[in-house]
Amino acid sequence: MESAQRGVVRIVTPVRVLEGAGVRLMRSIALPQLDYLDPFLLFDHFGSDNPADYIAGFPMHPHRGIETVTYMLAGLVHHKDSLGNEGSIRAGDVQWMSAGGGILHEEMPKPVDGKMEGFQLWVNLPAKLKLTKPCYQEVASATIPEVTLEGGGTLRLIAGTFGSSRGPVKDIAAQPTYFDVTLPPGTSFLHTLPRGQAAFAYIFRGEGKFDDDSTVSSPKLAVFGDGERIRVTTEESEVRFVLASGKPLHEPIARYGPFVMNTAEEIDQALRDLRNGTFVWKG
Ligand code: FE
Repeated sequence: MESAQRGVVRIVTPVRVLEGAGVRLMRSIALPQLDYLDPFLLFDHFGSDNPADYIAGFPMHPHRGIETVTYMLAGLVHHKDSLGNEGSIRAGDVQWMSAGGGILHEEMPKPVDGKMEGFQLWVNLPAKLKLTKPCYQEVASATIPEVTLEGGGTLRLIAGTFGSSRGPVKDIAAQPTYFDVTLPPGTSFLHTLPRGQAAFAYIFRGEGKFDDDSTVSSPKLAVFGDGERIRVTTEESEVRFVLASGKPLHEPIARYGPFVMNTAEEIDQALRDLRNGTFVWKG
């Protein structure tokens, strides 16, 4: 029986990788040291004051079997896809995209006032939803509840519930929590997460204690063990982190770049569909 408090069981230092057509980013899930935190398949933090680090972007590419969640802090990502959607994800906005049975899209980061920064999380889909119709939840910054915490901190509630508030992202199989939390110095934050859910915090500003005694400085990803409550406290410094949790699928996975299926045969099928021009979901 685990203790009620969820301690930190693992700390991952993000690794610099080059993705897309040449985007420098920091990856903390989808690494040899943390390949999969069921249901989370990938977590990337991108951003730079130098557009050369990202302007080549992510030209047209496929996805199947997963959800990609883009959350922007600064700048924007212009996107376009095989469903005919086109638009921009701007600072504070979220795009929760379910690739389902197949989508082709491009994601092109651009600076605003010289800045561009954000995150992309990949959430696995259960076998029964891997070949469903692709869909989006576009969440404008203004529709994300911002809760003022005791001690003056703030919590942007993207998905899940906090107190009596509920985030705008709905009907996701993983029943996720996705918060952006800022705590000033000398405060503490307590949150109850469903037992059995995988949970992590990605600390991207300052430092805090993510347990009774382990101080974690940005940038780091802290994986929580099972239990009920997480507790974060700050001392001299403020801290800002993304807190995510989700229900594990406990299903076999076969992953190959932007496709995540259950078997190697389903990956081969995705590659065949791509070659034959039958990749995109048609119903
Ligand atoms: Fe993509």
